[in-house]
Amino acid sequence: MTKSKSKFLIVPLASEIADAARQAAAHGAGDHAIIVADSPHGFPCRHCLHFARPGERMILFPYAAIPAGHPYSETGPIFVHAEPCLRYDAVNEFPDELRQGRVLRAYNSKFDMIDAEVVDGCEPKEVVERFLQNPVTAFVDARSVTRGCYTFRMERA
Ligand SMILES: [Zn+2]
Repeated sequence: MTKSKSKFLIVPLASEIADAARQAAAHGAGDHAIIVADSPHGFPCRHCLHFARPGERMILFPYAAIPAGHPYSETGPIFVHAEPCLRYDAVNEFPDELRQGRVLRAYNSKFDMIDAEVVDGCEPKEVVERFLQNPVTAFVDARSVTRGCYTFRMERA
């Protein structure tokens, strides 16, 4: 039996959004703060999907993961590296550094949340694939299990 291909793709934050956040922070936008990471697992960059190393500068800004105009609309704080970084490109692999401390939420095409599960202690890929077995699932979002912050999206391959 051949190894089955990943059934979903990782979708990190768009480079255009990361670049716009860097420009806004450089221009002193009030809702874009520069934060210096002071712990190794507290500041995940949504663009490269790596944790900031202590001492690295991050931009903290609000992002509408679920757009306005829906019951589950949600805007919340996310980090990107203040310096340019490479967008995560291992789109068939669940990001290694983010396998723990995440909750996975399934949404339908109208942005309604239809399922959610904490992945600590289990294989995140299996949870995502189970959500996608439901034909109504349009995408799955990973968020911080503690603070609830949006981390990245997964879409059907
Ligand atoms: Zn980064």
